[in-house]
Amino acid sequence: MVNDILELTKALVGMKTPCGDIRRLNRCIDFIMDYYHGIARVKRFQYNRFPSLMISNYVRPNLILNAHIDVVGADESMFTPRIKGDKLYGRGAFDSKAQVAAFMQVMKENPNSSIGLMITSDGEVGGKWGTGRLAKEYPCKFAIVGEATNLDIIYETKGAMWIDVEYRGKSAHAVEPWKGVNAIEEGMKRLEKIFKKYNNKKSDFSPTYNVAAVSTRNTFYNKLPDQAVFSLDIRFIGSPEPILKELKKENFVFNGKSYPALNKKVFPALKTKQNDKYLLDFKNIAEKATKTKLKLRKDAGFTDARYFKNAIEFGAKGGDAHSDTEYVEIKSIEKLYQAVSAFSKTQEEKTKK
Ligand SMILES: [Zn+2]
Repeated sequence: MVNDILELTKALVGMKTPCGDIRRLNRCIDFIMDYYHGIARVKRFQYNRFPSLMISNYVRPNLILNAHIDVVGADESMFTPRIKGDKLYGRGAFDSKAQVAAFMQVMKENPNSSIGLMITSDGEVGGKWGTGRLAKEYPCKFAIVGEATNLDIIYETKGAMWIDVEYRGKSAHAVEPWKGVNAIEEGMKRLEKIFKKYNNKKSDFSPTYNVAAVSTRNTFYNKLPDQAVFSLDIRFIGSPEPILKELKKENFVFNGKSYPALNKKVFPALKTKQNDKYLLDFKNIAEKATKTKLKLRKDAGFTDARYFKNAIEFGAKGGDAHSDTEYVEIKSIEKLYQAVSAFSKTQEEKTKK
């Protein structure tokens, strides 16, 4: 079994699928479509040119397995898979073709379980046109999003918000700065004050901010700026609302009318409850199937899992994703398969009853 998945992973790594290369992404999607010929129903989608697939014999499967085929760009040589010891090297081996291969095998073996395989081609560029669309068309009870998690189960991630907020000060002549309020300096102070409330340690799962750019309409050296716009990248937990409220309280203005902001983009957080029934079921079944203790944890990054109502990220062990020495540990692909396969089989029993 593990050999089939290993061969499949190698075949997928060998198919060059750099993000945005629609022609090549389509070719890989064709390959996956053919794989299910006569086994399961396959529906192909194309949003904003990005191809994606939904493979299931159910109109609304309980469980969705999701993974992306696109990879970040790499040297030509990285698209030739190489095995050294227990490691398979190559672009995408870890992020995320080992997951694609393991999930493909599970789907092939359990076509009559209430499961669906969702394959997307924009996972490295935000997932809006793949999982973003398909998760809405296929609401499910639970989703397992295949990512390079080192066999950890990730149930919560931070959300991100890109926002421009304005702070207004009071202009004064530079010879008498005490008569005014420098909007840039005061704005920075207030931002620091807001985020100091959270325990901003490196290891801490708390909100963070980055001032990406500051602009002002002031063009005079001898004048205190009475206005400044801060372009922020804010990483939040759960909902961005509390931080927006804090910004308002500290007199930041959002386009002059408090909400909405001058420019705002929100990437929601993944927030599956740690005691969610599906999550705990999966953990139990997966631990038994793999004879391995699996860690539940939070992660700072964000992925396609956030598009589902109830989801986790789970995937093989490896390292150096996005770099020249990307690899996946072969034994861990087997464990990934065992875990997801065992859980998928329980979906079948539930629907039979
Ligand atoms: Zn990925």
